[in-house]
Amino acid sequence: MEPIAIETKTPEELLTWAGGEFKNVGLASSFGLEDMVLIDMIHKLKVPISIFTLDTGRLHEETYQTMERVRSKYGLPVKVYFPDKDQVENLVREKGLYSFKESVENRKECCRIRKVEPLNRALADLDAWVSGMRREQNPTRTEIQKVEKDAPRDGLVKINPLADWTLKQVEDYIAANKVPTNPLHERNFPSIGCAPCTRPVEPGEDVRAGRWWWENPDHKECGLHRP
Ligand code: SF4
Repeated sequence: MEPIAIETKTPEELLTWAGGEFKNVGLASSFGLEDMVLIDMIHKLKVPISIFTLDTGRLHEETYQTMERVRSKYGLPVKVYFPDKDQVENLVREKGLYSFKESVENRKECCRIRKVEPLNRALADLDAWVSGMRREQNPTRTEIQKVEKDAPRDGLVKINPLADWTLKQVEDYIAANKVPTNPLHERNFPSIGCAPCTRPVEPGEDVRAGRWWWENPDHKECGLHRP
């Protein structure tokens, strides 16, 4: 597809295209609002897009419950990737359980072990992957394209079907389609990651303000989307 044509495509059109274009395509899901929209669409469209998630070992109980709701409501299998146990054991033995609070470098080390390395293993089996990223989520995401090359991951195609959606569009889709959501959203967690690195946001705060809130917003990526 030409870049201009891609930009005009709806999420459903992009998911349908991706399911036909690539042999192995998977949705990376943390069961946030955007991921739940995409799961609902994949289910309705019956497109051959698998769902995988990264269990960092530090997730909220509510996130596990949401994962189980996906299995029961949609009947879709969820492939779970865990971090390498030796790396986690070494990290915790050497630096403790909260090293990520001490510096950006330490935080990125924890994200690399618990998220990026498992993601790279998940992506090794795929020709393309789908994410729920939106441009308005964070200053680090304003340039994302609906279909782009995942440059550091050679040749892999990344599809962001909701790139131009607003939060209101996401919420409207969820309400109209009765999509189950993580109960933490009702407690002012618009963006949900690991439990110790996520807090609720105040009215008027950015949707990603509750992620690694002790850091400068320009650093707020875990390496999944900008390795
Ligand atoms: S979000 Fe926090 S706990 Fe989770 S992998 Fe990153 S630094 Fe570690």
